[in-house]
Amino acid sequence: MTRTAAIIVGAGRGERAGGELPKQYQQLLGRPVLAWSAHAFAAAGVDRIVVVANPERHALCRAATAGLSVEIVPGGATRTASVRAGLAATGDADIVLIHDAARPGLTPALAQSLIARIEAGETAIAPALPVADTLLRAAPDGTVAAELDRAGAMRVQTPQAFRADVLRAAYAAAAPDAAFTDDLAVVRAAGGRTRLAPGDPRLMKFTYAEDAAMLERLMSDSRIICVGHGVDAHRFGPGGHVTLCGVRIAHDKGLLGHSDADAGWHALVDAILGALCEGDIGAHFPPSDPQWKGADSERFLRHALARVEAAGARLLHVDVTLVCERPRIGAHRDAMRARTAEALALPLNRVSVKATTTERMGFTGREEGLAAHATATLDRPA
Ligand code: MG
Repeated sequence: MTRTAAIIVGAGRGERAGGELPKQYQQLLGRPVLAWSAHAFAAAGVDRIVVVANPERHALCRAATAGLSVEIVPGGATRTASVRAGLAATGDADIVLIHDAARPGLTPALAQSLIARIEAGETAIAPALPVADTLLRAAPDGTVAAELDRAGAMRVQTPQAFRADVLRAAYAAAAPDAAFTDDLAVVRAAGGRTRLAPGDPRLMKFTYAEDAAMLERLMSDSRIICVGHGVDAHRFGPGGHVTLCGVRIAHDKGLLGHSDADAGWHALVDAILGALCEGDIGAHFPPSDPQWKGADSERFLRHALARVEAAGARLLHVDVTLVCERPRIGAHRDAMRARTAEALALPLNRVSVKATTTERMGFTGREEGLAAHATATLDRPA
């Protein structure tokens, strides 16, 4: 079994992009720049993700990668020193990918294709795009000093993927104060074999403030908004309380069910799974399995959220409607929103809980049970 590691190099000051924060921590499409790459590597199934960050920015880095299993290590004075620090944290990985934090448009598919090329026998490979424009060298006064030969010229991107032993040997052979612009160059300097793979325009580097708008357009093209829908119902039985959207409410009946019978959160789990096209709650937590007897439904929600992370998706908004005559929901609605927002790590203004009756019609009208409907909106790789 091949073990893979990714190093995200984000220790630079990132000042050319302007703004109060270094560019790797600025928000792009609602997520810090650096977080997009970490999520892409996680969704690609990379075993170990190492983020090299400026020690002064560790708190920002931790916040940006919340919910992901990443190791944060302090960077060095140069990019080369930072990669050395990251490399030391890759453990026994067989394949190492090194990526600039400032290239948030990485797709899981591209990372996987590079890993596959190393598994197939390459030792060092980087995505690259041909240069379409004429290349000139400018003199300091703005006049043209020379025209450069464009034939064969390539723009090299990251992530760059390596057989780990080759990369480690190349870094060991490099002078302690060596400063390379990328890691293919380190392997080349050590006499190693390097190769280019087709690049991706979405991997453009966030360098200047005006790059943000272009990156957002490019990245939006590779993502779609999906809405999932879920429905659940539980029958009333003997008892003294019900649990709805995580809130325990005193009532003259209870709800029958294998778990805690929280129909609101069950509908929500189905809505999230629906947006991911990953089946339903019954498939993930079979009622026949005794371990889910009396289970707190927050476990189901957390599982659904883990599936969202694994898919490289992001939950944007949820809306739950409870359908019952009694208990009256109104007085508990704010508590339900707050509990649901907390469980999903969403801001309160992206969580809706509402209620309706069915005017005494049907099973909810006769108070035989209650029902819940939910939608979940998320953005995910197309
Ligand atoms: Mg249920």
